[in-house]
Amino acid sequence: MKILVINCGSSSIKYKLYDARTENELAGGLIERIGEQSSHTVHKCGGAAFERDNRIADYEMGIGQILDLLTTCGDPPPIERAEEIAGAGHRVVHGGERFADSVRIDARVLDAIDHCADLAPLHNPANLAGIRATMKLLRTKPQVAVFDTAFFQTMPPAAYTYAVPHAWYDQYRVRRYGFHGTSHRFVAAQAAALLGKAKPNLITLHLGNGGSMTCIRDGAAVDQTMGLTPLEGLVMGTRCGDIDPAIVFYMLGKGLSPDAVRRALEKESGLLGVSGVSRDLRDVMSAAQEGNARAALAVEVFAHRARKYVGAFLAELGTCDAVVFTGGIGENSPPMRARILDGLAPLGIDLDAQRNDARGSEPFAITADGSRIAAWVIPTNEELMIARDTVRLIA
Ligand code: ADP
Repeated sequence: MKILVINCGSSSIKYKLYDARTENELAGGLIERIGEQSSHTVHKCGGAAFERDNRIADYEMGIGQILDLLTTCGDPPPIERAEEIAGAGHRVVHGGERFADSVRIDARVLDAIDHCADLAPLHNPANLAGIRATMKLLRTKPQVAVFDTAFFQTMPPAAYTYAVPHAWYDQYRVRRYGFHGTSHRFVAAQAAALLGKAKPNLITLHLGNGGSMTCIRDGAAVDQTMGLTPLEGLVMGTRCGDIDPAIVFYMLGKGLSPDAVRRALEKESGLLGVSGVSRDLRDVMSAAQEGNARAALAVEVFAHRARKYVGAFLAELGTCDAVVFTGGIGENSPPMRARILDGLAPLGIDLDAQRNDARGSEPFAITADGSRIAAWVIPTNEELMIARDTVRLIA
């Protein structure tokens, strides 16, 4: 059974084709600059890469191009006809309070995703356009929506309620939702298998360009660092994470427009804002090593915020089985992992420096054998999780 996984961004489509039985990735790629004068596609299949520069005006043309590439590129191509695709799984950013699991898409689900568009104005309309285009081109094939927020619907009111006028929640749905759920869910399931415990207590850190942490009790999410939007919580590549909300009014008072403040907090803050060097941790760390004091500060601020949440989540859990690192930074930066866990041995996390320096595509432990709480690096695979949900729901 072949499953197509689709992730539509505001001007891009990422995709992967899976063989559901073996879970092998048969092909995949990225179309960028959709709607611009010239779009760029990189398609990978069987170790070869194919590139196209042509104008992709909208998502329907984009999905059409993907189906064309899947049926023509490769020796032989992974499928001969689009009809061989059994179903498609779509990443959808915001499912609001409506979706606590992935779901097979019908007209009511489309309406519900649309209803959440004002909570994720950049993402949900693009996700929806991608779903509609795929439904049109793969007419008879079932489609599944996999929400970034669904995993966190188990959070208790004490964790998701903001201490603001309650009417904001009742009327405008202002609450914590949490994001990156597909990644946190994937690594939590892996950790449960590694621990041999069906419902463990975990702290999972997804650290990429965006970053978030989840507190998991008995296998279910009970807290998350991201909030109404993915802007809250950890320090990220360009997002500020937690700040005093009064900073917004203060800067408005200094003459910045609301748009300028929003842009600054979303695009010009985080590692980039503090360091002035880059949003990419590799660049920031090399600058720090070369003596750039602001780059060194950015690294410290990043680690400090994450460490603070490890402590907060340990307090929420009482007992914790494992801390899990994933995402580009979580998987690939031993120095950042070491900084985040620095000084936590008295709390039960005893890092083993040598193990922490390892790399690998398989999960590996980074704590000493006697550590009361284990820490693991577990590579994430959100697309595979979407493919698995799709198989489960169309079976
Ligand atoms: P996204 O959130 O866009 O999917 P990724 O999960 O790919 O991003 O993470 C990107 C981040 O991972 C960047 O900040 C990059 O610097 C970091 N990263 C990737 N490889 C390394 C590495 N070897 N050392 C440190 N950071 C790394």
